[in-house]
Amino acid sequence: MSGLVLLVSFVGALASGFMLQRYEKIGWLALIVMFGSAITSLFVPEIHGVKTFDIFALSLVFGFGMSLADKRAKSKKAKADFEALKTSRPQYKHCPHCRSPLVEREIDEKKRLACTHCQFVYWNNPLPVAAAVIPHVNGGIVLVKRGVEPKKGMWCLPAGFMEVGETPEQGAARESGEEANVKIEVERLVHTYAAPAQVLLFFAAKPIDQTPSPGSDALEARVFPLDQLPTDIAFSSHVDAINIWRKQAGL
Ligand SMILES: [Zn+2]
Repeated sequence: MSGLVLLVSFVGALASGFMLQRYEKIGWLALIVMFGSAITSLFVPEIHGVKTFDIFALSLVFGFGMSLADKRAKSKKAKADFEALKTSRPQYKHCPHCRSPLVEREIDEKKRLACTHCQFVYWNNPLPVAAAVIPHVNGGIVLVKRGVEPKKGMWCLPAGFMEVGETPEQGAARESGEEANVKIEVERLVHTYAAPAQVLLFFAAKPIDQTPSPGSDALEARVFPLDQLPTDIAFSSHVDAINIWRKQAGL
């Protein structure tokens, strides 16, 4: 094979490697061509003047290029994931156990901050957040106006970080009490959502007959009719949860 053919096929292989990211079936196609041509070359050395062994050799080059491109894309994604995690939390510089500096190390296929002295690894796992869609017996749902950043002044469902020792349902009920001063009974899970540093669990509550009022962290708390929901709802995941709940409830 000439050098030019090799070069062209290698560039083609890199290109198909990038396509592999989108269409995983290309990888299978390459494998079929590779094994097919290898077996064919044992029995039929030449087809229309083309040596079948050359096709096998080309498919090897393609395979190599594809795995290179695949590897590069994966490491790029891992790096982006790590950057997202880095910006989603305060960046710790020292080990909470022994105060030694933390450094980036690859552990379990991801870059993480690990202690240079002891076994501490900052896993940076997402924190669970419990939220509630609370319908009112007279129609509408309870929303609270955020009194703290982020998105202070915008509306959202009563929600907050879970405490140690409570179930997600209890967390949703507690937050509803703290933010909107309503006592709820959780009915079922409606929606889950994974943000970079949080996992949100949205629960549907049984309809309440109480009038909400703002508690801690909230500037306002009230029942909005479903056709008059505010346009400035703070998080798209809350909007999704409301829409899913509405669809399920046929409202
Ligand atoms: Zn340490």
